[in-house]
Amino acid sequence: MARTTPARAVDVEAHFPELAAYRRQATRLHPRRGKPGVRDSSVGGPLLWPADEPWPHCSQGHPSLGFDPPPPGPVPLVPVLQLYASEALDLPFPSGTNLLQLLWCPYDHEPHYAPRPELRWRAADIDGPLLTHPPRPTGAPESYMPAPCVLHPERIVEYPQWDLPQQLNETLRERFDRLQEETGWSYWEDLSIAPGIKIGGYPGWTQEPDWPDCDSCGKRMDHLLTIGSAEFDGGSARAWLPEEDRPAAGTIFDLPYEQRHAIQSAADLMIGDMGGVYVFICPRCPGQPYAYRSDCS
Ligand SMILES: [Zn+2]
Ligand SMILES: [Zn+2]
Repeated sequence: MARTTPARAVDVEAHFPELAAYRRQATRLHPRRGKPGVRDSSVGGPLLWPADEPWPHCSQGHPSLGFDPPPPGPVPLVPVLQLYASEALDLPFPSGTNLLQLLWCPYDHEPHYAPRPELRWRAADIDGPLLTHPPRPTGAPESYMPAPCVLHPERIVEYPQWDLPQQLNETLRERFDRLQEETGWSYWEDLSIAPGIKIGGYPGWTQEPDWPDCDSCGKRMDHLLTIGSAEFDGGSARAWLPEEDRPAAGTIFDLPYEQRHAIQSAADLMIGDMGGVYVFICPRCPGQPYAYRSDCS
């Protein structure tokens, strides 16, 4: 079943023509619990991995916060996201590749106190046997171990939220307020960026943006994807909860907790306090260098 974000109740560019220049395409992935296979795009599912390619481990230092102390020795990374090009057309696949994999070390890393992601771009036509039982860390923080989910990619349009240039924000603020008084819709919460797990568009910052610059060329990197903790919250559900997930009567918050949680946080991740991990790349430099940020930790 597809997932469909309701059309915005307000035509953003008709009210705020200044924002047209900032329109960006994003793809909401809409993870939902399931049993993805290695040939499926997934969150927390098995990765398509050649048997003869070593599984990545993390040997970096892990700050001990007093709970879930990291084990000694290298930690196997865990699968977080696998995306085939057929479902993620906007991703900048390097030539010869059609599969993006994101794994992370499920322990806090400095300086963001968040899991540390790694990317793999590969060609899906692998000759030879596949890895069937990758190593899995034991005792890692549950909140950083994604539950297996199938995806329902949906292309949407975003306008900047935290990334709205300050001057433009000042120009538009009164008009945002007036729109909210007249229609009940908040630009910030309802009309700008999609919450949850998505590719492209604007990072799902929960506080001041912190864009990385590319180490090679010095230019600001591009947002590749956001792994957010929740697909909506009490404020954003009205605008961003897909049509297919809306109960016939009442609201999503009238459902029993487990039923709501399976839609709101199907992957069962909690990054800090409802924060996210944001991955950036430089498509201009050889090897597509990447970096990450996290907030709300
Ligand atoms: Zn690590
Ligand atoms: Zn660069």
